Amino acid sequence: MIELEGLTKRYGEKVAVNNLSFTVRPGIVTGFLGPNGAGKSTTMRMILGLDRPTAGDVRIDGIHYHQLKDPLTYIGALLEAKAWHGGRSAYNHLLCLAQSNGIPASRVREVLETVGLTAVAKKKTKGFSLGMGQRLGIAAALLGDPRILMFDEPVNGLDPEGIHWIRNLMKSLAAQGRTVFVSSHLMSEMALTADHLVVIGQGRLLADTSMADFIARNSRAYVRIRTPQRERLLDVLHQAGITAGETGGGALEVEGGKSEQIGELAARHQIVLHELSSQQASLEEAFMQLTAQAVEYHAHDGTPPARQEPWGAGWQKGS
Ligand code: ADP
Ligand code: MG
Repeated sequence: MIELEGLTKRYGEKVAVNNLSFTVRPGIVTGFLGPNGAGKSTTMRMILGLDRPTAGDVRIDGIHYHQLKDPLTYIGALLEAKAWHGGRSAYNHLLCLAQSNGIPASRVREVLETVGLTAVAKKKTKGFSLGMGQRLGIAAALLGDPRILMFDEPVNGLDPEGIHWIRNLMKSLAAQGRTVFVSSHLMSEMALTADHLVVIGQGRLLADTSMADFIARNSRAYVRIRTPQRERLLDVLHQAGITAGETGGGALEVEGGKSEQIGELAARHQIVLHELSSQQASLEEAFMQLTAQAVEYHAHDGTPPARQEPWGAGWQKGS
């Protein structure tokens, strides 16, 4: 379990992490989602004691990272992707790490096997591709067989096979009862991996919710209709007890998945339809709306984004 309480980090004027409080629980994958610059990596560095909080506190199983004996056996982490310029082999790199952390040398072969690097274990890491480097980083995180694992943007730059492998690995680690905390700036990635979602923007907590809840609230289904006989269709729909809303661009929208019913009504009343389509609001749109206020650098037309707060009570636990 990882517990953050009022965690804050300032770099001069810049507030990178702003009063974050949430708990990462065992047995599930918790996704840590936010646009670039939101403060994800800074938060993760503070969890590992690599950065000192300006205020607040973060504890791993109730104590601070520095108080952990053989920390790699409690928490394993893959931080931001880095180039490997070592003259060491993957095997020797992991062996040194094991020896300096009270981990039996036999674990080295096991984790190399888990991440699929056995065949290149004796090769120097400086020739490793980004994907191989990520696998080696994950091997290091798994070395101490820790109950808590943390991955910072692990799929960045990987090929589809590598992405698929990492997703399955995270799920199986959680299924073993471990705490898995993984960051991403992609909603689509989180939707496929995470059971629970913590969303931040400009260092602030925006949502702390189960993935199922997030999907239920945001996968709004509706039917879009275009017709040159707008008033007549509105009448017919109204008589059938169907409420249609107007959208920009002259289209009509009806909540729910009633396209067959609407098509049949239109046919019966000989109303011409130019469009009748079932639509689904995407999770990506929901994430973009949620973080719209909090994105550092927008490509927008110069007007500030409209204030949107469809996220009522229930988005943040305890608020
Ligand atoms: P994320 O990982 O979500 O992309 P980061 O945690 O890397 O975000 O960064 C959050 C903010 O803090 C950014 O605005 C970044 O520029 C700033 N920041 C991060 N590290 C430092 C640092 N060492 N010095 C100054 N500013 C920093
Ligand atoms: Mg980052």
